[in-house]
Amino acid sequence: MERKVRVRFAPSPTGPLHIGGVRTALYNYLFAKKHGGDFILRIEDTDQNRYVPGAEEYIIESLKWCGITPNEGVGFGDGPHASYRQSERMAIYRQYAEKLVDNGFAYYAFDSEVELDALRKQMEAEKSAFSYNSKTRKQLVNSLTLSADEVEKRIHAGDSFVVRLQIPENEEVVVHDLIRGEVRVHSSQLDDKVLFKSDGMPTYHLANVVDDFLMQITHVIRGEEWLPSAPLHVLLYRYLGWENVMPKFSHLPLLLKPDGNGKLSKRDGDRLGFPVFPLNWKDPVTGELSSGYRERNYIPAAFNNMLALLGWHPSGDQEIFSMEELIHDFSLERVSKSGAKFDPEKTKWFNQEYLRHEPIEKLVSLLKPMIVETYKIAEGDKRLTNEYLSKVVTLLLDRVQFENEFAEKGSYLFIAPTQYDQDIITKKWKPGFENFFNALSAEYGMMTSFTTADIDAKNKETAAANQLKPGEILQLLRVLMSGSGTGVDLLGMMELFGKEEVITRLNTGVNKIMQSMAAKSDHSK
Ligand code: GLU
Repeated sequence: MERKVRVRFAPSPTGPLHIGGVRTALYNYLFAKKHGGDFILRIEDTDQNRYVPGAEEYIIESLKWCGITPNEGVGFGDGPHASYRQSERMAIYRQYAEKLVDNGFAYYAFDSEVELDALRKQMEAEKSAFSYNSKTRKQLVNSLTLSADEVEKRIHAGDSFVVRLQIPENEEVVVHDLIRGEVRVHSSQLDDKVLFKSDGMPTYHLANVVDDFLMQITHVIRGEEWLPSAPLHVLLYRYLGWENVMPKFSHLPLLLKPDGNGKLSKRDGDRLGFPVFPLNWKDPVTGELSSGYRERNYIPAAFNNMLALLGWHPSGDQEIFSMEELIHDFSLERVSKSGAKFDPEKTKWFNQEYLRHEPIEKLVSLLKPMIVETYKIAEGDKRLTNEYLSKVVTLLLDRVQFENEFAEKGSYLFIAPTQYDQDIITKKWKPGFENFFNALSAEYGMMTSFTTADIDAKNKETAAANQLKPGEILQLLRVLMSGSGTGVDLLGMMELFGKEEVITRLNTGVNKIMQSMAAKSDHSK
């Protein structure tokens, strides 16, 4: 019988979740949803030395922000396999370590850290590396070299010991990976990993395999850094008698720095000019702050969309995918083996695309408090009406990548300029333009309708009547309206202001420019 698809995201709470971790969670989620399966969040906190306070909460909050919602797991209402936090499952693991020893697949090792350290140093001096493996174990202090009595005695006396996996001496271990195909590793390359520590805690390897089995996980989808551990996990499934229900493995490609030089790591923080974490994080020990995508005003769906395409390729050239579309199109076969370069510019582009498709009313309600705050405009003012703000949003939409940019990039749509781009004035202002703009202002005053088409016609007509080409005056008109030579559509902006405001800005601008020209010529006399 086909087993129900069950996948898990199993982070260790050793710090904030890196965006690579979020991508792993996302791929697990997409795979589960696509196959009508379950997605589980399991917290792997067996290594208490590396535990960082706040990290677990951070992981949960990140998944919530992204909308990657587990069916079972810590922070999401648990489920039939509770607890989903390994530190609360400690009673479970020991029996499996003992079963492995009883069946001859693992052994007790009594070597002290001091002894092993000395060996490491000695090997280093001989320019080689120490490994506890099928060769060295024969010379070390363990239940393979000691008599059964001696082992009994030591355990009873409370001697400190670990349980190590007995890696076969001469065997090829095959990992079937859905992304990478067959990965073959010779057992001589593997070491006898510790499964159970002297403090009574399992290691990652044992706890991970036991929990995947008990939680009926069918597919293990995780980062490439775990590929070297996969042969060991395959052996554990075999030795525990669970080979028939061993999950299928998929090791996701690394996320690389934008220049492709090396892995994008947690340590990159904000060093490369962009966040590597979903949410802001304050290191509880050093107090160091790292910024997150949420606080940089990213839309979660845009962030997910960007992450989904870092390593997975859809069949066509579509780039914008809703979560539903991602679920529908996702497949592990289309995940690449090679690392995916992170592209911060493309990440902003995704946000802009999503911003453009947000409902105008939503953007208006986001914008309104920002405008009140930035420009201290009082309620009741025309500039705070929905009509005015929706036009602002429409005019600016092509120019902003983030919602918070509306207020700053659109300042001139709320506040009349007090300064005018001097370079453009020097280049374009000709004698007689004062009269022309005064005439234009008078013409505007007589208009009864003030739409973009009306304004356009009036500009052309007045220019022609004064023997001017529109190209000679339009950029100056823009400077008079906004202070700057670039910005949103000129006619749209003028229609938004309305006749009165346009005339006021025009007259004020012309006066100020003439005053400054007069001051300059006085000065040069
Ligand atoms: N606890 C491991 C981690 O922190 C999980 C690796 C796995 O998914 O097997 O990434």
